[in-house]
Amino acid sequence: MELRSPESFWLLKNGILHSYPSLQKDIACDIAVIGSGITGALISHTLHNAGYKTVVIDKRDVAAGSSAATTSMLQYEIDVPMHKLAEMIGEQAATECYRAGIRSIAALESLVKKEHIDSGFEHKKSLQVAHSEKAVAELEKEYHYRKKNGFHVEWLTSEEIKKRFYMESHPGILSEEGASIDAFKTAHSLIKKNHDRGMLVYDHTSVKEFIYETDSVKIITEEGFTVFCKKVIFCTGFETLKMFRKKYADVISTFACVSEEDFNLYPVLKDMLIWDTADPYIYMRTTDDKRFLVGGEDIPFRYNGISEKIKGKKTANLNRKIGNLFPTLHFTEDYRWAGAFGVTKDGLPYIGEHPDFPNAIFVLGLGGNGITFSVQGMNLVLKILAGETDPLLHFYRFDR
Ligand SMILES: Cc1cc2nc3c(=O)[nH]c(=O)nc-3n(C[C@H](O)[C@H](O)[C@H](O)COP(=O)(O)OP(=O)(O)OC[C@H]3O[C@@H](n4cnc5c(N)ncnc54)[C@H](O)[C@@H]3O)c2cc1C
Repeated sequence: MELRSPESFWLLKNGILHSYPSLQKDIACDIAVIGSGITGALISHTLHNAGYKTVVIDKRDVAAGSSAATTSMLQYEIDVPMHKLAEMIGEQAATECYRAGIRSIAALESLVKKEHIDSGFEHKKSLQVAHSEKAVAELEKEYHYRKKNGFHVEWLTSEEIKKRFYMESHPGILSEEGASIDAFKTAHSLIKKNHDRGMLVYDHTSVKEFIYETDSVKIITEEGFTVFCKKVIFCTGFETLKMFRKKYADVISTFACVSEEDFNLYPVLKDMLIWDTADPYIYMRTTDDKRFLVGGEDIPFRYNGISEKIKGKKTANLNRKIGNLFPTLHFTEDYRWAGAFGVTKDGLPYIGEHPDFPNAIFVLGLGGNGITFSVQGMNLVLKILAGETDPLLHFYRFDR
């Protein structure tokens, strides 16, 4: 029987955890955060706790965008290998961007611990394998480059990979620092905690117009109410890209499926994030409820939606690839879904101000590392508001 989820796994598993009123009056605040996904949750948390009167607005339910579909692998490795990124932005900058990824995994762990959030955070190692014989040399080059720059990496041969993970593959890089999280639950919990501490949250509130003034912004909702704020922070995910005249990123649809609970290789794979070097790459991990989660098969975003037929075909490809990589793994698909995100050429996000939008700050955690980039956005937004600079703001600027 072909009965599969029309919604992402996280939304089905967790449900809509908390609901908020829509905006039904004019209000004033210091900062309006537009978007309540993992980015909006992290940024609003930072701002509210820094003493800014903060309001969160979302046109959907909380975390019902990409954050409901994400596979939430937390990796310091950016989609562009470090040695390639170094060719684009220089060695020091590339290593700094990779190191920022490691710091943000630790920062997210501290945050969920400090706030007692039931986030499903788990430490994991990250294994990237070559997808073909031809890709081995390039991956080995990346291994040496990272090692030379002080990263904790190990080169595993095909035999070692088979012995340790029951996996049939070409050699790969094993990195120490990785993790996974339930981004949907984390975003919901964080927003609820701050709402309970006085932060205003409005869901199902669609914005019709932003009016940028000299030292403030007026936000007009579809229902005709106004939010008067000093700054607006866009945490609006890939949908933000349509605001710009320039094309900063491509939007893609990616596919994911998850096995039933207690799959047979869980004890062997439970501490692992695994991906390969193909373009698009396949990525997989275990979940905190002992499932195997697999994603990939990316295609350009379809504005008229993804049909069940395409979803079925793409996840069938993922099932076949898992079978080839893990001949002894019993993968019984329980749920399948599709989701969208933006991809930049250098794998880096856009975080900062844009000349066309005065008094606005953008935190666009694009790419396969969107979540760790959003964590970095917490500190960076505070710096922008304080008029300070940071090397990461230079690397993540719009006019790069
Ligand atoms: C299948 C899949 C797998 C992924 N895997 C990973 C991974 O392993 N690791 C990783 O780090 N990242 C991954 N990503 C990317 C990651 O999910 C995103 O970077 C992250 O969820 C983005 O969060 P966000 O809060 O910025 O955006 P979203 O979660 O999309 O939230 C944006 C919110 O803004 C709201 N909004 C937009 N426009 C407006 C408006 N005009 N008015 C009001 N509200 C508005 C939307 O309703 C939405 O709720 C994956 C994504 C997908 C789809």
